[in-house]
Amino acid sequence: MPQTTDRNRRILLTSRPKGAPTPENFRFDEAPVPTPGPGEILVRTVFLSLDPYMRGRMSDAKSYAASVEIGQTMVGGTVGRVAASNRPDFAVGDWVLSYSGWQDYALSNGQGLTKLGQLAHPSLALGVLGMPGFTAYIGMTDIGQPKPGETVVVAAATGPVGAVVGQMAKIKGARAVGVAGGADKCRHAVEDLGFDVCIDHRAPDFAQQLAAACPKGIDVYFENVGGAVFDAVLPLLSTGARIPLCGLVAHYNDTALPPGPDRLALLMRTLLTRQIRMEGFIISNYFGRRDAEFAKAMIPWVTEGKVKVREDVVDGLENAPAAFIGLLEGKNFGKLVVRVGQD
Ligand code: NDP
Repeated sequence: MPQTTDRNRRILLTSRPKGAPTPENFRFDEAPVPTPGPGEILVRTVFLSLDPYMRGRMSDAKSYAASVEIGQTMVGGTVGRVAASNRPDFAVGDWVLSYSGWQDYALSNGQGLTKLGQLAHPSLALGVLGMPGFTAYIGMTDIGQPKPGETVVVAAATGPVGAVVGQMAKIKGARAVGVAGGADKCRHAVEDLGFDVCIDHRAPDFAQQLAAACPKGIDVYFENVGGAVFDAVLPLLSTGARIPLCGLVAHYNDTALPPGPDRLALLMRTLLTRQIRMEGFIISNYFGRRDAEFAKAMIPWVTEGKVKVREDVVDGLENAPAAFIGLLEGKNFGKLVVRVGQD
């Protein structure tokens, strides 16, 4: 059902997933479009970002951010246009980056809202120029710190974080080794994004192929997935390696902890004996550097073609649940966004 001006379509969380999310965890709903009060703005969603962290918000496990309550609208970053404004600093029609969630319309008091100006591709504010690109930038700048000639490995290499990690590695003069699911993604990583090599993590001899691709070891492993990829990376880490611990998407649907103490002992021995720095980071703690530093670096890289972008655009808010379920299975090819309404 298309976006209208008289009703607010939204996707609610109706139950918490056990393991992988299913369509039954979500419900499509309609409500009246809210009316902005004094000092408020009504924002109409044009693009909704779908991101792996949303799996954590569906859970009630204790985390760094609050869970979505049952019956509430799913949360998410959005790009949209001001539909009505009771504030002097926002005019009707302005493009804004907001956190409106999985729905057509949301009210805002202006806090946390960023004006985007006239962008040729506003959806990029949800990907390479937004939270995922910023995540790659901070992880590489603060923790990875690749030097010329070093080897950088990243999985989910064609997603919005991994693609920027690999291209930043090349900008810094390092070798970029990608890991991705399937031949098409691997071809894209090498031919379009400029990775030196990309290996399919579903190949039966994945670990051997990774070892062959990293003859001098791995100096930076940008951790996006965990699981079997990490198992293959661990023996290849060089002395003094750095691991920005960004995400563990292979584990987000786990219902139990992965097998225990032997693996942990191996990990700790490797970190100790090879003097490896492994550091977790959460991007929301770095927003003070978004405009002053990240945007100043990334906008020219994108404009000059040093950082290339691929988006996977799904049409229609009603298709967001299926697209999100697919994201956790690797069905997206590039930054996943939902087109919710017309420009
Ligand atoms: P992507 O768009 O790349 O989507 C996730 C990808 O993960 C899938 O497309 C799939 O790619 C890959 N994947 C899923 N399961 C597995 C598996 N079992 N083994 C290997 N790969 C798998 O996601 P993003 O670029 O948005 O995010 C990448 C990571 O960064 C995530 O872990 C996310 O949670 C994290 N993140 C962390 C932030 C922070 O503040 N720390 C902020 C933003 C993101 P493929 O088909 O290629 O395997």
